[in-house]
Amino acid sequence: MGLSLKQLLRIPEELTQLHSTKQARLDQTTSKASLCRRSKHGVERLGNSAAPNQLLLLLSLYSILGHLRWLHPVPDTEDTQRADRHCTPGSSNFTSVLVSTSKNSNFLTNTTVKPICIVTVTDASHAQAAVVCGRRNGVRLRVRSGGHDYEGLSYRSARAEVFAVVDLANLRAITVSTDEECGPTAWVDSGATVGQLYYTVAKTNPELGFPAGECPTLGVGGHFSGGGIGMMMRRYGLAVDHVVDAKLVNADGELLDRATMGEDLFWAIRGGGGENFGIVLSWKVGLVKVPPTVTMFRIPRTLEQGAVDIVTKWQDVGATLLPRDMNMMVILQGRQAVFQALYLGRCDEILPTIASRLPELNATKSDCKEMTWLESMAFIGFAGNTNTSALLDRNIGFHAFFKVKSDYVRHAIDKEVWHKIFSWLSMNGSGFLMLEPHGGFIGTIPTGATPYPHRSGVLYIIQYITSWPTGNEGSTARNWVRNLYNFMGQYVTKSPREAYINFRDLDIGENTVVSDVSTFDSGKVWGRKYFGGNFRRLATVKGMVDPTDYFRNEQSIPPLLQGY
Ligand SMILES: Cc1cc2nc3c(=O)[nH]c(=O)nc-3n(C[C@H](O)[C@H](O)[C@H](O)COP(=O)(O)OP(=O)(O)OC[C@H]3O[C@@H](n4cnc5c(N)ncnc54)[C@H](O)[C@@H]3O)c2cc1C
Repeated sequence: MGLSLKQLLRIPEELTQLHSTKQARLDQTTSKASLCRRSKHGVERLGNSAAPNQLLLLLSLYSILGHLRWLHPVPDTEDTQRADRHCTPGSSNFTSVLVSTSKNSNFLTNTTVKPICIVTVTDASHAQAAVVCGRRNGVRLRVRSGGHDYEGLSYRSARAEVFAVVDLANLRAITVSTDEECGPTAWVDSGATVGQLYYTVAKTNPELGFPAGECPTLGVGGHFSGGGIGMMMRRYGLAVDHVVDAKLVNADGELLDRATMGEDLFWAIRGGGGENFGIVLSWKVGLVKVPPTVTMFRIPRTLEQGAVDIVTKWQDVGATLLPRDMNMMVILQGRQAVFQALYLGRCDEILPTIASRLPELNATKSDCKEMTWLESMAFIGFAGNTNTSALLDRNIGFHAFFKVKSDYVRHAIDKEVWHKIFSWLSMNGSGFLMLEPHGGFIGTIPTGATPYPHRSGVLYIIQYITSWPTGNEGSTARNWVRNLYNFMGQYVTKSPREAYINFRDLDIGENTVVSDVSTFDSGKVWGRKYFGGNFRRLATVKGMVDPTDYFRNEQSIPPLLQGY
């Protein structure tokens, strides 16, 4: 016998009221007592508020109905959005909700280990309830914001496991404040996409922007959790370099903000990877200044036009010799390199610099396209289309079968090797490479300031990307990307060979679970690649806030307990 939808939703509503009252108090305290601190790495707002400890109350409320909610599918009657909140494999909308934001079709097959239930939350109290219910009933949670995880870990398990998905896609409010003492800020919910954030910020004030990723449908929740690199990183750093506060539901179901979670946990959630420390519901970010006109370049050069020479020279120029306002990435595919750049200013201001630093590119005024910053975000996201309202479309873009791996380069690779790399790009199953320069502001931030360690001395990050049209055709492409990665080992960073957590790759290691806890030693194998020396601190924070390893996946931070 299932409960009625009304009954099922009663508790979340009570919790909503409770949460709103507590939150109003929390907000009041924070605004009265908060302080601004301008550090050399950006603006930080220090909140000071009371912790809302709702755990005991939640536990008693859920003791009666919580268990039942996990066992009974909710009928798809009444208001669809509400019914979506709790769909199970028996619900007619289960598959559509599961695939709604899942980007990698590899993980939507019959053999995929899927959730027993998807909880689509629209309020903090729903996420709190999911944690408490999940723990009570021995069901782990995976958290999904935008569904872009390269290995699909936000909605599938690589191992046999009973889990539910907390889907934040409907928690996506964005509130911009332009009159704050510390400069303009925005609160953005995790379920918003970066495209929605760019649009909302620029429509509020076209002189403002935010430095985050290039694909407009990225979910803020997962993207910020792993760092967030993008076309303004040389000028402004990563998305997480601008996070000044956050709201998180921890492994005990408590709703915390920066002041109540403490600086260690606040440090860890800004780049330590999603699904480790709790469910981040929203983020407060400092906004950055953008000029009224920016310039985009998209310059293709074939091997015959000197692509190898230009790429070889670009390696140092892109990171160290171009101004911070200029970000020139390179996409290598087939016999061609495409140099795509964003300059935060007008064409005439930057052309002479490109001509003197990278004359081999032969950039001319006809390669420039001037536009607003918001249009440039659309241009990058939609391959040259500047329709900015498309940034609001959460469903735009691809669903594909793909595999990605990543590397960092600290010493320029020789020209002869680039010839060989180009020959890989003509092989069976070949995909493409994306090279994104670091240097500039991103390189000035100390390695330990956030969990993202790939800072000073990094020239660029490489993504090796391959895709295929149908599920059965992946083996050639997968082999290609893995073999190329092996070949590249001698030319990229070593000990550890660095990788970017947001470009998740299970090939580099998976946790071993012993006595129901992921082991530190197994985590070290992949963890040092993503986080370098910051991995131990992340594991220590995990040990403090989630010692029983409730929030876990195949590559989650293992808890390092005292006395380990
Ligand atoms: C087409 C494409 C383009 C990309 N471009 C860029 C780019 O330009 N720059 C860049 O840095 N990265 C880029 N990425 C990688 C992207 O940043 C990561 O995949 C990121 O994790 C996606 O976040 P999401 O919310 O969309 O994904 P999800 O799959 O929802 O989540 C990713 C991970 O974070 C966890 N998580 C999600 N939400 C939360 C939350 N609220 N609280 C706690 N944990 C959470 C999930 O459990 C999962 O482990 C790209 C990926 C794709 C597929």
